Amino acid sequence: MEVSKCLVRPLHGQPYNGSGCIVYAVRTLILGGGLTGIALASLLHERGHDILVLEGGARTGGLCRSRSENGFTFDTGGSHIIFSRDEEVLGFMQRALGENRETRTRNTKILHKGILVKYPFENGLAQLPREDCFFCLNEYIKAYIRKEKGEAGTPENFREWIYATFGRGIAELYMVPYNEKIWNFPTERMSAHWVEGRIPMPPVEDVIRSAIGIETEGYTHQSIFSYPAEGGIEALVHALERGLEGKIITDFPVRTLRYRNGAWEAGDGRRTVSGDRVVSTIPLQELAGCLGGVPPEVAAAVKNLRYNSVACVQVGLRGTVPPLSWVYIPDRDLSPANRISFPSNYSSHVAPEGFSSILAEVTFNDGDPVSRMADGDLADLVVESLERMGFLSADSVVYRAVDRQRYAYVVYDLEYLENIRIARTYFQELGITLVGRFSQFEYLNMDGCIRNAMECAENWR
Ligand SMILES: Cc1cc2nc3c(=O)[nH]c(=O)nc-3n(C[C@H](O)[C@H](O)[C@H](O)COP(=O)(O)OP(=O)(O)OC[C@H]3O[C@@H](n4cnc5c(N)ncnc54)[C@H](O)[C@@H]3O)c2cc1C
Repeated sequence: MEVSKCLVRPLHGQPYNGSGCIVYAVRTLILGGGLTGIALASLLHERGHDILVLEGGARTGGLCRSRSENGFTFDTGGSHIIFSRDEEVLGFMQRALGENRETRTRNTKILHKGILVKYPFENGLAQLPREDCFFCLNEYIKAYIRKEKGEAGTPENFREWIYATFGRGIAELYMVPYNEKIWNFPTERMSAHWVEGRIPMPPVEDVIRSAIGIETEGYTHQSIFSYPAEGGIEALVHALERGLEGKIITDFPVRTLRYRNGAWEAGDGRRTVSGDRVVSTIPLQELAGCLGGVPPEVAAAVKNLRYNSVACVQVGLRGTVPPLSWVYIPDRDLSPANRISFPSNYSSHVAPEGFSSILAEVTFNDGDPVSRMADGDLADLVVESLERMGFLSADSVVYRAVDRQRYAYVVYDLEYLENIRIARTYFQELGITLVGRFSQFEYLNMDGCIRNAMECAENWR
C-alpha cells in the first residue's frame, strides 16, 4: 500500500531528480542488491511477498558485478565461476542463465618454483622437484600417523590445523604461504573452525597416488564449472532480476535505519522508505553504522570482525593465454597477486577475436602498501609480474583497468566466534534478519548465499 507520494526509481532507470521524502509502505525491505539481495527478492516476490530492494551502488550485483569495455568483459569483484555440490542451488543458477552459459573443465595450477603444479597441491605432488615431493609425502604420512594414533591434539589455530592435517612439507611449501597471502593475515592468528568443506582434503590414498605419479582429481564438485557466455558473472544477477522491475532502488545507500511507530524506516539522507520487516544483506559494519544507540560492546564486536579487501587488475592482451582456468601464486616475491585467472578461457564472448584476458586479484587491508598505491602503479606492478612469470609480454597489453572491493573476504581471526555471537544476538533481538556473505559475516560463495536466501524465503511469514 502506498502511504504518500511514491516515487520508486525504475530498475536501472533515470536518475531521480526530485527532492523531499519518498515514503513507500512495503512489507519487506531488503538492504543491499548484491547476489543475495536480488536472489532473495526474486524468491520472496515469487511467493507473493511485497518487497523493495535498496542498493547503495549505481548498479546491482555487489561482488558479482562485471565491466564490459573495449570488447573485454571482466568480473570486477574477482574471478567468479558457477559451481556447487548443492544440486538444487546449482540448478537454480543454471536455469536463471538459461542459454547464456558456457561450461568448462577446470585446469587450475599452483605456481611453485617455476612449475605449474596441479591443483589441489596434494593432487600434483609428482610434479614437484623430487626432494620437495619426498618432503611433502614423508611429512604428510607422519602427520597422518600422528592423527591415526590420536597423538595430534586439537589444533588451536589455523596454522596448527594446516600442520596437523597436511604435515610440514605441504604446509611450508604451499598452504601457509598461500593462505597468509590471500588472507593478508598470519595463520597462527586465525581460527580453524571454518575449514570443513572449504579446503580440499584428499584421502591419504590419493596423496600417495599423486606423489608416485598416478593421476588423481581433488575438489571434484568444482572440476566442471560454468560461466555466463555473455555479460560476465553480473549476467547471473540480472537474470534473477527478471520480474522485479520497480522493486529495486539503486543509488540508495542506506545511512539510517530506525524502528518507529511499528515500522522500519530506511533513509539515505534525502529519502525515507518504510517497511514492516527488514532483511539486511549489507556488511554488518555498514548496518551497525545505520542504527542509532548501538551498545558499545556490540559496536566494538562489529568493528573487530576482520575482513580484507581485493584489488582486481584486469588486463586485455593481443594473442592467446595458456589454456588455464586460474593459477594460485603463493610466493609474495613473484607477484603481489595471490591468484590470476584467464576469463577468456571461461567464455568465448568476453574478449574480442584474436585477444585474450587475465584478471589478477591482490588482497589488501587499509593502511598497507597496496591500499596506498595508485591503481596505475598497481597495474604496472602486476603486468611486470605477469611478464616475469611468462604469462604475457608487456607489449601485447591493449587494455588495463583496476577495481577495488572494500569487503572481499571474511577473515576468521581467533576472536571471530565471540565477536559474531555478540553481533548476531544484538541484530536478532532487534528483529533484523541477516542473510549474505558480509551480513552473516561468513565465508559464503554464491551457492551458500543462494541457499541461505532460499531458506530465508521458505521460512518468511
Ligand atoms: C575474489 C572473489 C572471488 C570469488 N569467486 C567466487 C566464485 O568463483 N564462485 C562463487 O560461488 N563465489 C565466489 N565469490 C563469492 C561471491 O562473490 C559472494 O558469495 C557473493 O557475491 C556475495 O553476495 P552478497 O550479496 O551476499 O554480498 P555483496 O556482493 O557484498 O553485496 C552486498 C550489496 O550491498 C550493497 N550495500 C553495501 N552497503 C550498503 C548500504 N549502506 N545501503 C545499500 N546497499 C549497500 C553493496 O553495494 C552490494 O551491492 C568470490 C568472492 C571474491 C571476493
